[in-house]
Amino acid sequence: MAGETILIVEDNPLNLELISDILEAHDYQVKAATTGSEALKMVEESRPDLILMDIQLPGLDGLAITGIIKEKPENSDLPIIALTAHAMRGDEEKAREAGCDGYISKPIDTRAVPNTVRKYLDARNNPTDSTTGTDLWNQPRSSSLTIILRMLNCWRPTCCPKATTSPRPSMASSPSKGRRVRA
Ligand code: MN
Repeated sequence: MAGETILIVEDNPLNLELISDILEAHDYQVKAATTGSEALKMVEESRPDLILMDIQLPGLDGLAITGIIKEKPENSDLPIIALTAHAMRGDEEKAREAGCDGYISKPIDTRAVPNTVRKYLDARNNPTDSTTGTDLWNQPRSSSLTIILRMLNCWRPTCCPKATTSPRPSMASSPSKGRRVRA
């Protein structure tokens, strides 16, 4: 499901255009702000479903803006994903401390943007669903662990919901007959 409104706060026109194009191709409604004050005004007027926040902005930087937005209780569940320069080690940690929910590093990976956006929207919609509420701050480790756990789960027929509707209804309705014939 798409159609959610994503606010992109980014002063670099090329990055802004790239991210807008990617999200529009995935059927999101895209809004853009190029400064912090503009972003604050837009959030005030109409709350987006998610914000992609460039950290390095002229004037108020992305960390300060995130802090101001998250200060308001009504915005506590509004996902804010930092756009951080890959070379700037420590930026991710600072972004988390400022209240960002996750980050996407630059240069922008065109696949990471829709995947990450979707993940955070799903996590917000289903806060109790542990499979979507993955902590992206430890993305490589936890996502591979999640995949392994899912595989292990499906090897155990009793844990796999689909196993209960397996395509063998005749054996299930007359188990003694079916088993004896095959044994
Ligand atoms: Mn910037």
